[in-house]
Amino acid sequence: MTRKAALFLLAIVLVVLLLPAAVISLGPSTEPAPPEGGSSDDEAGEKNKGLQIQLYRADMDRVVRMDLEAYLEGVLLAEMPSTFETEALKAQAVAARTYALQQMRSLGGEGCSETPVPADICTQSGHCQAWLDPEKTVAQWGPEGEVLLERIRAAIAETSGEALLYRGKLIEAVYHSTCGGKTEASHALWSGGELPYLQSVNCPYCKHSPHYRGEHLIPIARLVEVLPQELALPVASGEQLQLELVSSTPGERVGTLKINGMPVEGPELRRLLELPSTAFVWEIKEEGLLLHTRGKGHGAGLCQYGADGAAKAGKNYRQILMFYYPGVEIAKFIP
Ligand SMILES: [Zn+2]
Ligand SMILES: [Zn+2]
Repeated sequence: MTRKAALFLLAIVLVVLLLPAAVISLGPSTEPAPPEGGSSDDEAGEKNKGLQIQLYRADMDRVVRMDLEAYLEGVLLAEMPSTFETEALKAQAVAARTYALQQMRSLGGEGCSETPVPADICTQSGHCQAWLDPEKTVAQWGPEGEVLLERIRAAIAETSGEALLYRGKLIEAVYHSTCGGKTEASHALWSGGELPYLQSVNCPYCKHSPHYRGEHLIPIARLVEVLPQELALPVASGEQLQLELVSSTPGERVGTLKINGMPVEGPELRRLLELPSTAFVWEIKEEGLLLHTRGKGHGAGLCQYGADGAAKAGKNYRQILMFYYPGVEIAKFIP
């Protein structure tokens, strides 16, 4: 074998060895095989660098196009305390990237349904993912902001292009602040049936969250004011307040309850009473309804404070993601 032929053979062997098993290609790829000596991990990162997302900025009332990876900086700034552990930031980066990819219309997603003009995603936390302009935010936060943004950038770069997949498809990577000890199954929250990776799991990691437990006293007068008339009427007319749990969810949250015999769904009551979550028990007091709440947010998928707690307990971002989205695969996403 000539020296040239031997080098050629070596190059081929290297390329084969460097092809990671985890690279999953969704849909046709028009790109040729990675060049000799090039890792396809890098290539997936490079490709995602080229992915552009159309973001509806509620603050400007217009759609802006930006690099997906750059978009994630604003999401991490808005969605997770930047002081969280590095592995938690990395888990959040992968979840947020997956969420965004899943909505992108150029990849077959449906985009955001709440914008006045078509867009992939909006900046409203109650709808898509919250987002803050990194430049403006850092200018407001000062030198500390610079440090935090650097941590966020590192978390995004270290998980570059990685997404959560189930049977080769992007998952619905929902997340929330604090589960309070048990996450929620998606079918208890949204229509569309059970999702195997969004089941209820026991979370021992979010006890340090300020939202782990809460107490909310709702005076009778406020109850009468915010409840729909049919629910408020008996209470308003002086009837003794009575609550009865009709059903609870797999995540031990209120499914349906009855207020003086009238049924109301947990999420509806949460909205009306502005409660942090639908996980609550109650006491009827002289002054009103005393609710003991657990957690903050819908409770499905990644528990953000839990991710921070799990990272403090030594888990890496992959272990964290596999814990909150059981059965998923973490892989470089190649459109
Ligand atoms: Zn939206
Ligand atoms: Zn939790």
